[in-house]
Amino acid sequence: MTQLTRFQISEATSAFLGRSPHKLLINGRWVDAQDHQTYRSYSPSDGSSLAEVALAGAADVDRAVRAARAALHGEWGQMTPAQRESILRRFADLIRTHQAELAEIESLDVGKPISATTAIDAPVAAQNVYDFAGWPTKIAGAVPAVSVPNHLVYTRREPVGVVAIIIPWNYPLIHMTQKIAPALACGNTVVFKPAQIASLPVIRLGELLQEAGFPPGVVNIVTGRGSVIGQALAEHRDIDKLAITGSTAVGRSVIQASAGNIKRLALELGSKAPNIIFADADLDAAVNGSFGAAFHNSGQSCVAGSRLYVQASIFDEVVNRLTAMAGKAKIGHALDPEVELGPIANESQFNTIQQYIDRGLAQGGKLQSGGKRLTGGIYDKGFYLPPTLFTGQGDEAAIACEEIFGPVLPIFPFETEVEAVARANDSDYGLAAGVWTRDTGRALRMGDALKAGVVWVNTYGLFDGAAPFGGFKGSGYGRDNGPDVIDAFTEVKAIWISKE
Ligand code: NAP
Ligand code: MG
Repeated sequence: MTQLTRFQISEATSAFLGRSPHKLLINGRWVDAQDHQTYRSYSPSDGSSLAEVALAGAADVDRAVRAARAALHGEWGQMTPAQRESILRRFADLIRTHQAELAEIESLDVGKPISATTAIDAPVAAQNVYDFAGWPTKIAGAVPAVSVPNHLVYTRREPVGVVAIIIPWNYPLIHMTQKIAPALACGNTVVFKPAQIASLPVIRLGELLQEAGFPPGVVNIVTGRGSVIGQALAEHRDIDKLAITGSTAVGRSVIQASAGNIKRLALELGSKAPNIIFADADLDAAVNGSFGAAFHNSGQSCVAGSRLYVQASIFDEVVNRLTAMAGKAKIGHALDPEVELGPIANESQFNTIQQYIDRGLAQGGKLQSGGKRLTGGIYDKGFYLPPTLFTGQGDEAAIACEEIFGPVLPIFPFETEVEAVARANDSDYGLAAGVWTRDTGRALRMGDALKAGVVWVNTYGLFDGAAPFGGFKGSGYGRDNGPDVIDAFTEVKAIWISKE
């Protein structure tokens, strides 16, 4: 065990960090950026430097795309579906074997509490790959019943080709596996770009991909700036599809950049998920669930339940209970096993959140708890914010309609179901929504009425490889998980044969 801070890290993690400078994975080899530039990766928990990482440029993107194109037609393209399944399973097994190390690397690099990365992120990453490992032998075409006489038509599902994947910093292990597993199951090859501030978990997964035996060039990893290499990927003429998870602003820029070669797009973008508690709900479950919905990963989650609507008759009780929970939350270094909320990812994210808190106050909001950066001890080495609860703001306030991506929750009273639906749906976004009620009819009506790609009733934040996940409206288009993603990572072709 190595003493990095006052929290110990395992030999495996320390050996991984020791392999710095971390390079780009291109055509099955770890290589320097062409111009030899690098950047530093830091731990948001205490500002300590973790490793040096290659800073790729557009020329490196070109190299990675060439490798991915060649791999599409090489050994990978010639493999049987059963062979592809066994490599994917080996990869999933390796993730499972290295779960503890992967959880630690993500906690260090992202600042997410180790309790969460151990219980959720690392095991879900393995499960994501298991979920899709069995698909290659099940992807099938069809024989459509055409009315043209004396002809057979059959369809084939072929890989889309070279796929670029770009992810944000908040869930690197989950986002990477959730997207590469179906892409590879469908026979595509990949050029992958993690967020600059959270590249290390992805680089470790890259090493495990190598160990699993994927042929060279099947998955390439380029690390660096979104404005440079993300943009280069979106514009690239030899990339067939781009799947990105990120903000709505970046999604818009990608749509424009991708127009050159009519790239296929899958966009998982921003959100401002409404969470609604009815007076007939199981209040213990609703309050606990809503606290977790808003403050898991310090609110730095796309599905965060970040607008809470509470029926007027229980409003004060819910606010009081949430305020008590906020006061007790343990906040600190991500490697502390007791910690529930880690630091904010970096200074610029903290400044954005602080500006929203200031605007919340200026626009009539009343702070029920939190709202100020913590100071003293470890808190001076990172950007730590306690759970922050607001009441009294109007529906038009910035904290009520814009994505904050931090531990800030505006709470609103409402009277009727119709009113709750109207206010919940009055948003530019539509990724997720939560409902707490014991009335089955109401649960079903809410499931129908809410305009969001996922609606959780009497639960929150659950995912599964079999259940589609993605957004309505400004939250993007395309789906992760479920059979929809298999359709999206394949092109369908109709072949006509004359019987004459
Ligand atoms: P972001 O700033 O949009 O960045 C996302 C990724 O895009 C990063 O890898 C970034 O690179 C890259 N990028 C930046 N500019 C680009 C450009 N011009 N062209 C191509 N790529 C570019 O988002 P973030 O701050 O990392 O993450 C927070 C956002 O992600 C929130 O809006 C959140 O809602 C959203 N999110 C959505 C989901 C979902 O499933 N819908 C899930 C999680 C997060 P660098 O940052 O490395 O420069
Ligand atoms: Mg980092």
